[in-house]
Amino acid sequence: MTQLLYYDDAYIQKFTAKIIQNGQDDKGYYSMLDQTAFYPTGGGQPFDTGLLNGIPVINVEKINGEIRHYTSVPLQALEGTEVEGVVDWERRFDHMQQHAGQHLLSAIFADHYGFKTVSFHLGRESSTIDIDTESLSEETVHKVEEMVQTIIYQHRPITTVWPEGDSWQQYPLRKPPTVNEAIRLVIIEGIDYNACGGTHPSTTGEIGPLKVLSWERQKHQTRVTFVCGWRAVQALDEKHTITQRLSQTLSSQEHDLPEAVEQLLVKQKELEKTIEDQEQLLLTYEVKERLAEATNHDGHRLVTLTLNDRPVKTCQKLVTALTDTDPHAIVLMVVQNKDRLHVIAARGTEPHYNMNQLIQPSLSLINGKGGGKPERAQGGGEAVVTPEYVLKQLMTQLQETRKVEG
Ligand SMILES: [Zn+2]
Repeated sequence: MTQLLYYDDAYIQKFTAKIIQNGQDDKGYYSMLDQTAFYPTGGGQPFDTGLLNGIPVINVEKINGEIRHYTSVPLQALEGTEVEGVVDWERRFDHMQQHAGQHLLSAIFADHYGFKTVSFHLGRESSTIDIDTESLSEETVHKVEEMVQTIIYQHRPITTVWPEGDSWQQYPLRKPPTVNEAIRLVIIEGIDYNACGGTHPSTTGEIGPLKVLSWERQKHQTRVTFVCGWRAVQALDEKHTITQRLSQTLSSQEHDLPEAVEQLLVKQKELEKTIEDQEQLLLTYEVKERLAEATNHDGHRLVTLTLNDRPVKTCQKLVTALTDTDPHAIVLMVVQNKDRLHVIAARGTEPHYNMNQLIQPSLSLINGKGGGKPERAQGGGEAVVTPEYVLKQLMTQLQETRKVEG
């Protein structure tokens, strides 16, 4: 059995140990030691990383009651010899801050609101607890944050005890212990009594700031996302950088930002409306002009157009406006946008040509696809020929197309 140094002292960063066994399993090369300060994944807390004789420790897991230190390459040291272990302290201390912060957060939610913590996950960027409530108000979250932060500033000791036999019953535990083996109690004086195998700082003060970032309902529970310690400081720094940049860009004081953005959005909506009105007005003029230029075809008015760099959507609007304005209109339009051609053929209610049939030869010409109804058809293809050439093809087709009674 490996002696777990982190159980008695979570602050051990360097240690020496004897190798009990070197091995390899489906997760890689590993070594087992007679004692270790490396924490293995468990209880929601991720494993420690660091070095064993200068070789990176990339994963630590408890398998069949034994702690396997997975290294990036096999250790050169033989079984029975001594190795030096160094724990990546930045990572571990961060885990201690998040883990102890979770104890406090869970304790306050349970003691003041009756919301029990169902699960805990310590993630790479933030941590979550799932609490057994379907709703959580902003006011509650703020109150909880305040109470937690007060306890943090009270600098309360966090201690561990190993009660013998049934003597754990004298402590107000949140849950009775599930294991029969020796029970390790983590005590935050006056606040929390928990059977826990994780690593914690020795006082609440070391947790640093705690901030709830968000919460969302998950079936019958609520998932609360939070950060502690350095992570909270980093989060503040990132958010501060963003608000500063926004503040400069919008020439607005930080606390006026929400209002400034709202004003911008209102203004944008107004502008969009103005543009739409202007476009509509322009369209009316264009329709008049195009119809004035129309030629006579079989007693109807033929409008032929080739356009460049014009959104298909506005072209479609123009065609609609033309055929709506004049029931005798026949519109043949080819639009080029970069290497794409778009063909539209449409008519008013009076001519009875089948535009869907009419358009097909032109679409094949440009390797295109499309179709529609007898009164209006369209399609797109490649600009393998000029728009003028396609228009000519459409006009030839119009000459040949027999009237189809619609
Ligand atoms: Zn714990």
